[in-house]
Amino acid sequence: MITVENLNKSFGDLHVLKNINLAVHESDVICLIGSSGSGKSTLLRCLNFLEKKDSGTIKIEGEEITPKTHNINEVRQKVGMVFQHFNLFPHKTVLENVIEAPVMVKKIPKKQAVEEARALLDKVGISDKADVYPGKLSGGQKQRVAIARSLAMHPDIMLFDEPTSALDPELVGEVLATMKELAEEGMTMVIVTHEMGFAREVADRIVYMNEGRIIEKGTPEQIFENPQEERTKEFLKTTV
Ligand code: ATP
Ligand code: MG
Repeated sequence: MITVENLNKSFGDLHVLKNINLAVHESDVICLIGSSGSGKSTLLRCLNFLEKKDSGTIKIEGEEITPKTHNINEVRQKVGMVFQHFNLFPHKTVLENVIEAPVMVKKIPKKQAVEEARALLDKVGISDKADVYPGKLSGGQKQRVAIARSLAMHPDIMLFDEPTSALDPELVGEVLATMKELAEEGMTMVIVTHEMGFAREVADRIVYMNEGRIIEKGTPEQIFENPQEERTKEFLKTTV
């Protein structure tokens, strides 16, 4: 579905992504792990074309995507992204947040968008909050609104960048449960996470990054039970 080949990215002199190769297939759940500064967010942002690669190719359904050949805004609609900080519109209600892009970008009739949004809010377990403003929500609720808002665009793939790391510990579970449900429904997902228990349980594959390189990838069993690389072993020791 998405194939990354020999992707490189630098910020000035800092070589942040080094020859990244990664294939994401339909319904894959890939958890990206690695220490701070290893390039996880930058890789996600390249997949979503929020960041411009320096070299290498990104193919979607076998077709190379570049700003010259494709309308990046249209491509981006197919790639949902959920961030650590929810980036909700504070002056819009929950429902308005969710219908904003479908109505404004996709030109979906408002009535239909509202119906869909209500169904999505129900799915993420906050239908009772449709008419409140984000300021009145807990972090976990905000993050579930952010997920519903992404889903409202019917993305082919969802990218999550540490969606639970800004949350109080007691709110992490509800967001992980929502993500697990999406995974079980077959959503294709790439998730940057420090939640190793979640990664082990939900991921089809774990990708471990260090200093801009993919050091090791494999099934949760391979990576957690039998890592091959010294750096992977060291990293896993630092996580509990
Ligand atoms: P964390 O776990 O802390 O979120 P990460 O693995 O997501 O880390 P990135 O955010 O991808 O790491 O950053 C990789 C490297 O690139 C870091 O050294 C960071 O300082 C640098 N970097 C990221 N974005 C920029 C930018 N816009 N300009 C300059 N340097 C950047
Ligand atoms: Mg990051």
